[in-house]
Amino acid sequence: MEVYYQLPVLALDRPVPKHVLGRRGAISLNSNASLFGGRSPRQLSKRRGAISYDRTDQTALFICLLDMRLTGRGIIIKSEKRGGTKLWVDFRLLHNQSGVGCVSGKRHRQHLSLQRYLHPIRGFSNSPALPTGPVAPPPPPQRTLGLLDQQYYGQASVMLKRVASWNFDIFLFDRLTDGETLGCVLQHLFHKYGLIELFGLDPLRFHKFAGLLQEYYYTRNPYHTSVHAADVTQAMCCFLQEPKLAQSLTSWDILLALLGAATHDLSHPGVTQDFLIKSNHYLALLYQDGAVLENHHWKLGVCILRESGLLSHLPVEDRLCFEGRLNSLILATDISKQREFLSRFDAHLKNDDLSMNNGNDRHFILQMALKCADICNPCRPAVISKQWSHMVTQEFFQQGDMERVLWQEISPLCDRHSNDMASIQTDFISFVAEPLFTQWAKFCKSPLSRCMLGNLQENKRYWSGSAP
Ligand SMILES: [Zn+2]
Repeated sequence: MEVYYQLPVLALDRPVPKHVLGRRGAISLNSNASLFGGRSPRQLSKRRGAISYDRTDQTALFICLLDMRLTGRGIIIKSEKRGGTKLWVDFRLLHNQSGVGCVSGKRHRQHLSLQRYLHPIRGFSNSPALPTGPVAPPPPPQRTLGLLDQQYYGQASVMLKRVASWNFDIFLFDRLTDGETLGCVLQHLFHKYGLIELFGLDPLRFHKFAGLLQEYYYTRNPYHTSVHAADVTQAMCCFLQEPKLAQSLTSWDILLALLGAATHDLSHPGVTQDFLIKSNHYLALLYQDGAVLENHHWKLGVCILRESGLLSHLPVEDRLCFEGRLNSLILATDISKQREFLSRFDAHLKNDDLSMNNGNDRHFILQMALKCADICNPCRPAVISKQWSHMVTQEFFQQGDMERVLWQEISPLCDRHSNDMASIQTDFISFVAEPLFTQWAKFCKSPLSRCMLGNLQENKRYWSGSAP
């Protein structure tokens, strides 16, 4: 059995200096070694593409090396480390429940060899199992519809004219764009809001940025894919049209909202934070303070921003401020913070003290908007909402299948034998979605927010069995 570790995005055609490789556990593409480990914001901002194996190295922007992208049939790797045994989990089990096996620690270390993987296949997420032996060149991208029939793109363009419509069918759009949904939606919205001209963005860099985004959402996840990110971005676009927001938001706010939505689930492994903790995943060790997934999404988003150079022409202070705001925006999607956000929102609504002229208040509203966009599936029209329900349930159950094999202890909602989609959806809508969207409707007081609540009630009736 062969094991592959996918390296993160790097300019792989650039030689890595020896003095950098010699530094244990770290790579920097910046040839200025003095910058490596530098703590000042200016230094950090130049530390593009840095990798670290060291979980205490919080300044590394992109800590992804141990992200398991395994081939073969094994699901468990045992790595003997200083007398202890470390359990690693192959997430491919989510898609192949038959294979169970172990890889020796020697094999583990062998595959950690850096040079061996300095030319990995980037597009692994869309590729079949990687070949064994020496790394093969990447397969040509599978593009069919666009090559066969440009009419599909024509229809996609027509759909984009209604991108701010709440009934926008993201699944149809995904078919029409041959899976390029996120890039197409984002590019259209950047033009729609004039962000390309306002911020002087380089179209080629934007293209690279959008491509990297698309690449780092994994198509093998049933739910957390680039289609979900595109759906959240499209929902955010709808919220930006709300009169309460549209009258006050600045261009920076709009840029932040769209990029926050597009990056908020980057490199999602398709399992929950609790699963990562139980499996000793390196991300859980890295972000011991919590918000494991959200921190990872944010860091990867920043890395892709820097790797693409999308904002590199802007003053460094502006970029760092933007990255900080992106952090608090994405971390707001941590569902464990839901109660805290609802309490704050409720207090603001009761006191009627939110001022959209105040930058902090606007940011809080953007956080609430992203939270709404992230879990807005029950507020979509029934035909769209049901598709999302199937997909998220499938992801829960796949995690449960893996937990059954590994620990015999299955997370709540993840056991396909004792849970059903209707009860999962009914509980989610009643206890998570409804309180949030009720408050959102109180704030917006708009036709859209009322329409969303109406859809939510209809979907709740359907799942609870009271639908006609
Ligand atoms: Zn999400």
